[in-house]
Amino acid sequence: MTNFRLGEFHPFEGGGKKYLYLVPSGAVFEMDGLAAGVIDQLRESERPAQELLAGLQANGLSVSDADEVLKELYQAHVITSGDGVMPEAIEEAPLPFPLSSLVLNITNQCNLSCKYCYEFGEDKLANPEGKAQYMPVETAQQAIDHLLANSAGRRSVHVTFFGGETLLNFRVMRSAVQYAVVKAREAGKSVDFSLTTNGTLLSEEVIEFLSEYRVGVTISLDGDREMNDQFRVFHDGRGSYDVIAPKVRELLARHKTRPIGARVTLTAQVSDVLKIYRHLTNDLGFREVGFAPVTTSPVRLYAIGGGGLDLMLAQFTKLANEYRECAVRGEHHGFSNVTDTLMEVHQGVSKAYPCGAGLGLMGVAPSGDIAPCHRFVDSDQHKLGHVSTGIDHAKQAAFLNKGHIGSKYECHTCFARPLCSGGCHHEAFVRYGDTGHANLHYCDWIRGWTDLCLGIYGDIAARNPEYLRHFEEERSVLQ
Ligand code: SF4
Ligand code: SF4
Repeated sequence: MTNFRLGEFHPFEGGGKKYLYLVPSGAVFEMDGLAAGVIDQLRESERPAQELLAGLQANGLSVSDADEVLKELYQAHVITSGDGVMPEAIEEAPLPFPLSSLVLNITNQCNLSCKYCYEFGEDKLANPEGKAQYMPVETAQQAIDHLLANSAGRRSVHVTFFGGETLLNFRVMRSAVQYAVVKAREAGKSVDFSLTTNGTLLSEEVIEFLSEYRVGVTISLDGDREMNDQFRVFHDGRGSYDVIAPKVRELLARHKTRPIGARVTLTAQVSDVLKIYRHLTNDLGFREVGFAPVTTSPVRLYAIGGGGLDLMLAQFTKLANEYRECAVRGEHHGFSNVTDTLMEVHQGVSKAYPCGAGLGLMGVAPSGDIAPCHRFVDSDQHKLGHVSTGIDHAKQAAFLNKGHIGSKYECHTCFARPLCSGGCHHEAFVRYGDTGHANLHYCDWIRGWTDLCLGIYGDIAARNPEYLRHFEEERSVLQ
């Protein structure tokens, strides 16, 4: 006789309702009293179907209704009849995989010298010596041709400009955008653009261009003068805030075709999330603000250690709770980390890989070398090809197999794996020297954050389900 046992799930509550986050499918299941009864029975030990059916009938259900409830729980994998947790098998990525996004590092040069930048110091992966520092127009065009030729089946593609400081090579960015618009039209696809910049070189001409071509803009900025200038400094040590702030105000006033966001790098020294958020939204006028802890090996003075991550989660929780209340009232809140996670929960995302790097997304160095993402460009060790010759599928497969959730045995019993999938390949390389290593230094943080966002999702689903429509559109995958 088949025995049933509990499937793999993470229970959570929101808005007075009880839910299960089903792993590894990433689905959210709303629990009623009957489902809760079956789960309680199975908590003690596994049981045969007859016993579970009898329990449901004792609650007043007919034979067929009880059977229906059990079937539903089984089909949703809330209960299961297998022998223990099955680890995800490593699946070979179907290559060639159609590209959706290309990140063009149009220069590896920067007019700032941020003290935590992963392009510098001992954490640096790139070896740009002897290679192009600024991407030539021809290389940018080859990259766009490569994207369009290798995006079979996709109706829209995305180009992101990254650096170094991107606007040091605005001339090439402008010509690449204009080229991409024409070529995408010829290929019957649509193309959209985004740009990450430190904001110091924004000018009237640049802002007009960004607005005309609907370029999404992310400004790297760490808060007010005092906070930002701790790390984000010019080569001579001068702080950058006073240069950036008026330019950002101008950008926000004149570029209205796409929302503009700020991206904050948190360090042990700059970690007051609420204060930073208030300044960037209330004082400067950003619509969205995203936060990320600095990527660095743990011995750096600015690395956020274990206690720091707990503190950060406490601060994120306060801001996320503000988001929750806004969403319940149907109002916008700009804490984009919550939006990103809720969107993945709503879309039932369950990742085989932590991100699109090396799969649908690639980074291109100024020389035209292709890397898994923008953070690996100019690193010979991680080179996957060149825009003129294409991708080396054997190297790509090796990178992807390492990064697949099936290779990360430490993650196989973790409820957060549908969203985390072991975490960023780049961070894993910096920390552990292996792109396929699970980022075990931040598991508590990831699980705490996932649980918090699930609760917010449940709350919104119960109190203002209409709001969840916001999470049906696509967003950028860049971090
Ligand atoms: S890295 Fe940690 S949090 Fe992420 S899936 Fe693996 S075990 Fe879970
Ligand atoms: S999560 Fe890491 S590996 Fe993935 S795209 Fe972002 S930086 Fe690159």
